[in-house]
Amino acid sequence: MNFHPEVDTAVALAYDAAGSWAASDGACRAALLDGLAEALGSDRAALVALADSETHLGAARLNGELGRTIFQLRGFAEVVLEGVPYRTVIDEAVAGLPPAGHPAMALARVPLGPVAMFSASNFPFAFSVLGGDTSSALAAGCPVIVKGHPAHPRLSAAVAELARQVLVTQGLPEGLIGHVNQDSYESGIALVTHPVIQAVSFTGSLGGGKALAAAIQSRAQPIPFYGELGSVNPIVVMPKALEGKVNECAKVLAVSMTQGAGQFCTSPGLVVLLDSEPAKQLVDELGRQVDQIALHPMLSDRIQHGFEAGVSALSSSAEVQVKTARGAKEGATKGFVGVTTAFAFLNNEGLRHEVFGSSCLCIMASSVKEIAQVLRAIGGSLTVTLWGVDSESEENRLILRAAQNLAGRVLFKGVPTGVAVTRAQHHGGPWPSSTQPLFTSVGYAAIDRFLRPVVLQDAPDWVLDRKGIPV
Ligand code: NAP
Repeated sequence: MNFHPEVDTAVALAYDAAGSWAASDGACRAALLDGLAEALGSDRAALVALADSETHLGAARLNGELGRTIFQLRGFAEVVLEGVPYRTVIDEAVAGLPPAGHPAMALARVPLGPVAMFSASNFPFAFSVLGGDTSSALAAGCPVIVKGHPAHPRLSAAVAELARQVLVTQGLPEGLIGHVNQDSYESGIALVTHPVIQAVSFTGSLGGGKALAAAIQSRAQPIPFYGELGSVNPIVVMPKALEGKVNECAKVLAVSMTQGAGQFCTSPGLVVLLDSEPAKQLVDELGRQVDQIALHPMLSDRIQHGFEAGVSALSSSAEVQVKTARGAKEGATKGFVGVTTAFAFLNNEGLRHEVFGSSCLCIMASSVKEIAQVLRAIGGSLTVTLWGVDSESEENRLILRAAQNLAGRVLFKGVPTGVAVTRAQHHGGPWPSSTQPLFTSVGYAAIDRFLRPVVLQDAPDWVLDRKGIPV
């Protein structure tokens, strides 16, 4: 085991807090979640200013993100008040021999225990200290230890201090929300390999996710790793969608792919088209529109270098025609649009990598069958967007089938950026978009990641009378 004083202290406090929090009722958990929401709202102006100084994301976006974070905390408070984490499936005893006869069975769920949560660089509020991972884990009955992200360390510390004050005010153990702000891989590894930690949530790079997954697998007891590691989010544009709307479509795409300098896990990185004159016009217009949009600085040097390297690789490929005025040289402050053929995309694995930032590769396919092949070649993605498949046909069924097999969310309108926090939301998908495609990291079903089923067989009344609240 790696010895790390800051991690060890936070984990010990979480361990001490875990038992009473697991046994807490809905009113207690909701009061904490609401209290955290209230505290964030009260400090809104100062928090947004601090976040802006560290991330350059701008006050408008950060205010919106903080509002979403507060909404999410309050939403999970409602979920626990409704009793979601305590729901129990009851099978009354049936007399007689098996398989028809059986004992009384109550299927309940128990919190996993202390969760390690890695803040995301690109969501300083909504996927950081008090973001979706923390709120869903607390709602499930698990303490959380947050690894702050080095792209916003002061904000991270400020929000952690706010959370600590709420815990103290409510008479709850401080170990319920721990915080490690060290900018070192060692602290992250020490955290995920600590025997007390029972689950890990992470949003970041493929390399970082793989390193953490390997460390988790090396534990004596491997634990669930909920990682979100990268997604290319293709948008399939069928001819119907382009009829009289080429410029409109280009504008919508340009705005979506440049939003937040493209630093969204759902930023559209691929546009797949049937080769045609309107499709060519769309690609040209997209390049022109993106050229006119100035991007704000990226979140960190690490992300900027990754973006520049990705754009450089695409723009220097003989198979890619660059559609923006400057491709590689001004990569960090300019968006990138290129176009290639489906044949090249299918035969060159290098064209399929996510370029995190405002980069979009358009793919010209010669048939619907080839569009489906392109989708199949991608692997996993958080989203696939389908424009112009509004009527039922053999071709549209083929495209939808390929899209469903590839992604956790299929959109028939609009753009994938902007992920609603709802009960029906699914933010995940096959590898590498998620390491656990059966679960979502956005929306209220995210709570399921931190609850383990346990069946109570022939349980006495005092156990059943707890109505699913663990002891
Ligand atoms: P990152 O480099 O993966 O870092 C995320 C967290 O993981 C940080 O806390 C980092 O530790 C830790 N980490 C990374 N590599 C590690 C390793 N080998 N061992 C232990 N811990 C490790 O992600 P980022 O800084 O946010 O951005 C870099 C790239 O990640 C982007 O260019 C993009 O490609 C991708 N990204 C993807 C998403 C997504 O939605 N999937 C979101 C953001 C970024 P430290 O704190 O010590 O640095």
